[in-house]
Amino acid sequence: MITLHDLGDVRRCCDDVRRSGGRVGLVPTMGFFHEGHRSLMRTARVADDLVVVSVFVNPTQFGPGEDLGGYPRDPDGDAAMADAAGVDVLFAPGVEAMYPDGARTTVHVERLTSRLCGASRPTHFDGVATVVTKLFSIVGPCHAYFGRKDAQQLAVVRRLVDDLNLPVEVVGCPLVRDADGLALSSRNAYLDETERRAALVLVRALRDAAHAVHAGERDALVLRDRARAMIGAEPAVRLDYAELVDARTVEPITRVDGAAVLAVAAVVGRARLIDNLAITVTPSGVETDLGAVAEEQRA
Ligand code: AMP
Repeated sequence: MITLHDLGDVRRCCDDVRRSGGRVGLVPTMGFFHEGHRSLMRTARVADDLVVVSVFVNPTQFGPGEDLGGYPRDPDGDAAMADAAGVDVLFAPGVEAMYPDGARTTVHVERLTSRLCGASRPTHFDGVATVVTKLFSIVGPCHAYFGRKDAQQLAVVRRLVDDLNLPVEVVGCPLVRDADGLALSSRNAYLDETERRAALVLVRALRDAAHAVHAGERDALVLRDRARAMIGAEPAVRLDYAELVDARTVEPITRVDGAAVLAVAAVVGRARLIDNLAITVTPSGVETDLGAVAEEQRA
């Protein structure tokens, strides 16, 4: 594995591989790797000839007063993990390289970005959409791997790739959980033991919703309100939202049909956590997807 900081070096490396008929896979991240990140890297490793993992704590997706300064970082640990996962290029650009003085362009995806996380983090998805578009432009035609843990982000990225005709195939990957059920997140590092136990109410509420869906419940408001009530009953957890939305448009729905997501966000201690349950209802039946349990963890 090589580590590159220069945008031009990454572009040349990707161009060389494509010129000789190879496929490029990109895994955009903010680092402090866990098994969620590693599962994306492994999926890319199977499908692509050159696997590029970007590590960039993107300042433009953090709002004022959010955790940009304290965001967990471990460059050496990340390099070791990426190497072990078979990554070819670790792309770690500096902030000045990504946002030179004078940059005036942002990418804004209408509607999808104003709900859910966008309601409490109004500038977040402009930051995400802009940095992802820049990464796609640097890397060029590729498969781009994103986790379904960030369901709204995945919908936003799919939309912008379609709207801007970008030569990128977006691949959504399973949500990975810790053994106790908590969705893996770099921000779980902020939780103490008591907060972590309290945070498990999120996955309990989603499991409860999955059972209700399998028992025949299709009323989105009933499912949403059950989740709100369960999470609201945990005093150490401050619910931001629990909404049932269309997976593609992120618009609220009243009946579960097609591809839907029960998305939740809550603040526990210093951590803002998100989680979701994917629900797919077709004429042939119903499927719910809470993701998978991680095989191994950071030592
Ligand atoms: P982050 O470093 O948190 O910005 O995440 C980088 C990528 O890893 C995004 O595509 C996330 O959706 C994905 N990711 C983060 N946590 C998980 C998880 N628990 N399961 C699956 N993918 C994840």
